[in-house]
Amino acid sequence: MNIHEYQAKAVLSKYGVAVPRGGVAYTPAEAETVAQSLGGALWVVKAQIHAGGRGKAGGVKLAKSLDEVKRLTKEMLGMTLVTHQTGPEGKEVKRVYIEEGSDIGSELYFSAVLDRTTSSVSFMASTEGGVNIEDVAHKTPEKIITVSVDPAAGLQQHHVRQLAFGLKLPAELHSEFNKMVEGIYRAFLATDANQVEINPLVITKQNKLIALDAKINFDDNALFRQPEILEMRDEDEEDPLERQASKFGLSYVKMDGNIGCMVNGAGLAMATMDIIKLYGGEPANFLDVGGGANKEKVTEAFKLILSDPNVEGILVNIFGGIMRCDIIAEGVISAAKEVSLSVPLVVRLEGTNVELGKKMLATSGLPIITADHLADAAEKITTAVKSAKAA
Ligand code: GDP
Ligand code: MG
Repeated sequence: MNIHEYQAKAVLSKYGVAVPRGGVAYTPAEAETVAQSLGGALWVVKAQIHAGGRGKAGGVKLAKSLDEVKRLTKEMLGMTLVTHQTGPEGKEVKRVYIEEGSDIGSELYFSAVLDRTTSSVSFMASTEGGVNIEDVAHKTPEKIITVSVDPAAGLQQHHVRQLAFGLKLPAELHSEFNKMVEGIYRAFLATDANQVEINPLVITKQNKLIALDAKINFDDNALFRQPEILEMRDEDEEDPLERQASKFGLSYVKMDGNIGCMVNGAGLAMATMDIIKLYGGEPANFLDVGGGANKEKVTEAFKLILSDPNVEGILVNIFGGIMRCDIIAEGVISAAKEVSLSVPLVVRLEGTNVELGKKMLATSGLPIITADHLADAAEKITTAVKSAKAA
């Protein structure tokens, strides 16, 4: 799960990371009130969407008066921002963050990520901040330094020193930097984050170290024990199909092909997608209905698959271990009736009560094609889709 910049800054601030003062606004009038209460003579109006690259797309603007704050907010709200992270359809701005303006001396890059290969928290730092870090990694990878922290031993002074030297920080900023790294590390562990990214981390002309931008991504599997983080969820920012799926405990990822798949178990789902490709087809999605797939889940899964206009055929591949095949067949039949299925459907069942399940499908009166094994299923669905197209 992702959160907005202003929420990420609030989280980091709780752990002692220095961020500019600011407040969120949903209307131009609110923006003016926030700016007034911040005081000063320079403000930044920042579009709050779950994507970076806002600056280049017109989503970060400086304002020199309260009137300008109001005018920029009015322009930004309702605007669709297209950045390198939003995809071509862009994202609509529904809230803005008003911050006190900072006098930037230099912009650095700093992040912490969960590194599964080394089972550590990896800090990444670069003197090339404020720009697209992927470009830096591509063109000048030597300008990014990585320092891995073993969570069993914890963050040590030598880690911090290595990072500070890598960033060429002046000595008088080392203790401030130490506090920031320590804060980010504590926040990372305490909130079950996957990634904390500060881009840019700036040194102001007044020689202060401030997180000018902040992005945090959290481990979805830990959200059950992070009620405060979950509160910050903004469903408007999530893919509607994936959001619908998560409501019903389904893992769904949309892809570009035309064969919808409904499978139980992530490994079996991957294998099913592989074999569809092997038989010359292209999967339209990854969909894992999970271990306890009941009739409701199966119906929801069907609806999800069919809401994708590219789907020209469906392959159901379910192993009835805990769940009996006859129950799954019942779910498939009722779901197929409910959604008035209009594309070929191949079902492959295996496991407990498989014969009964197959018989139910065969006598359902629905044009369901049953398959005996995985290769058979893949061949049948790719053929069915091809001949439906030819017809
Ligand atoms: P992003 O483009 O979505 O990553 O948004 P950022 O929050 O990183 O802002 C983009 C750029 O706007 C930064 O790299 C800065 O150069 C500039 N910027 C943001 N806040 C301020 C500010 O307070 N003062 C000045 N002068 N520039 C700012
Ligand atoms: Mg940024």
